[in-house]
Amino acid sequence: MGLLQYVAAWATVPILSRVTSHARTSDLDEPWRSVPARLRARGLRWTPQRGAVVGALARSDGHVTGAEIVERCREIDPATTPSTVYRTLDALEELGVVRHAHGATGQEEYHVGAASEHGHRYCRACGGQWDIVPGSAAARAIAGAFEADGFDVDLSHVTVVGRCADCD
Ligand SMILES: [Zn+2]
Ligand SMILES: [Zn+2]
Ligand SMILES: [Zn+2]
Repeated sequence: MGLLQYVAAWATVPILSRVTSHARTSDLDEPWRSVPARLRARGLRWTPQRGAVVGALARSDGHVTGAEIVERCREIDPATTPSTVYRTLDALEELGVVRHAHGATGQEEYHVGAASEHGHRYCRACGGQWDIVPGSAAARAIAGAFEADGFDVDLSHVTVVGRCADCD
């Protein structure tokens, strides 16, 4: 590849991602569009850093770790600090637009969108992961184990790590 081609290839990717990252919240669908107004209603400021977190989340699907969001925000603004990102994630969780769970090593993972409450099962050997869905035999057994105590299990905080049948 010639130098010019190399420069062109290098230049398009960051510029493209910068354009999408800077998409205004008003260009996004709900629940993201109303986030600035809802944060302000709680007395929280709307800042470019918070905009970067919302932009990164809006482009995510399924599970995304806090570290991944920090990384994506740093692509937009290298001065992003993890504490700013995590404080924003806490505020967004209070708004109900994200929900956190814990991965196989305990790290926080964020669910984006209208994912219903569910738990997680991980295979330590192959890295496979499966949801524990409400009403499944596993979910009912876990809830049932604590029912006599009157303890209501938060399924989204049920993380089970082990070995799957294929890895036995
Ligand atoms: Zn937690
Ligand atoms: Zn496995
Ligand atoms: Zn999940």
